[in-house]
Amino acid sequence: MILLFGKRVGPVAAALLLLTACSTTSDYSPEPSSRRPERPSTNRPQGSDAAFTETLYICGGITVSNAPPADTSRKVENFDPIIRVGGVPLAVNPAPRSCLSSGFGTRNERLHKGVDYHYPNGTAVLAAGSGTIMEMTYRGDYGNMVVINHGGGVYTRYAHLAGFDYNIEAGEEVAMGQQIGLMGNTSDHPIPIHLHYEILTGNYDTPKKSFGLTPVNPLSAMMLQ
Ligand SMILES: [Zn+2]
Repeated sequence: MILLFGKRVGPVAAALLLLTACSTTSDYSPEPSSRRPERPSTNRPQGSDAAFTETLYICGGITVSNAPPADTSRKVENFDPIIRVGGVPLAVNPAPRSCLSSGFGTRNERLHKGVDYHYPNGTAVLAAGSGTIMEMTYRGDYGNMVVINHGGGVYTRYAHLAGFDYNIEAGEEVAMGQQIGLMGNTSDHPIPIHLHYEILTGNYDTPKKSFGLTPVNPLSAMMLQ
């Protein structure tokens, strides 16, 4: 007998349980391995929209709330990697190759003010647009987070980062596509590895700062353009 996940099981059952556990993990992968032609190559320039993938898949093996229309392979229909918010070009998915694990809107009776992206074991998180780092801090619920000011009252927030890139600093400029950190699961409560990404507009200079801004749904903005 083998003790597995707190249960006493025979060797065959143990092997089956392990297989089940493994297949559950792979179901949560961003996209089938045969469909990854859009991976960013290493020789692509930094500081441009070239770093962002041209397709977006909805994560498999989980329930994704407020998911946009997708085809049978979970590929988001009419995906446009770059949108304009208040005239500012911004990436819809700042974590290339990751899949959409939660859409924007009401989720568990609360407003989810951003979109979530998942990639197994994390991946690079890039600046969605050029701007200035306004916040680079830790906050219990958001974990390690970065807020970028893109000018014109347009901001982006990146939360739950595993860590910040060595090359960024509060008050310093970042280029579109520049790496700002790594996807993680930092928070004061257990969460899966993912990026929580917000596009925000409004007046930053209130006591609430970035939390007083109005969230924009990147995927709706994409469908409207
Ligand atoms: Zn989120």
